[in-house]
Amino acid sequence: MSSNCQFCGHAHLTPTTTRYIHQQGDELLIVEEVPCLRCDDCGEEYFDVSTLKKIEADHLALATHRKRPARTLEVAVETFSAL
Ligand SMILES: [Zn+2]
Repeated sequence: MSSNCQFCGHAHLTPTTTRYIHQQGDELLIVEEVPCLRCDDCGEEYFDVSTLKKIEADHLALATHRKRPARTLEVAVETFSAL
């Protein structure tokens, strides 16, 4: 990973964890506590390719029922023009 923010150019990125929402067609997967680097200035988050590949593989395993998720959530869905 680069040590400078590619979004704003700020030099300091802090290692932390975040919630990552992965989308595959209409299916969403929420992964908690994903390691990332977060820009101290603009908040942009950067992930290792290996981290993203792991999430993709997990989503595929869930979508093909080779595995069950740790838990599921009911989420609200809205269409912007109806707000
Ligand atoms: Zn930044």
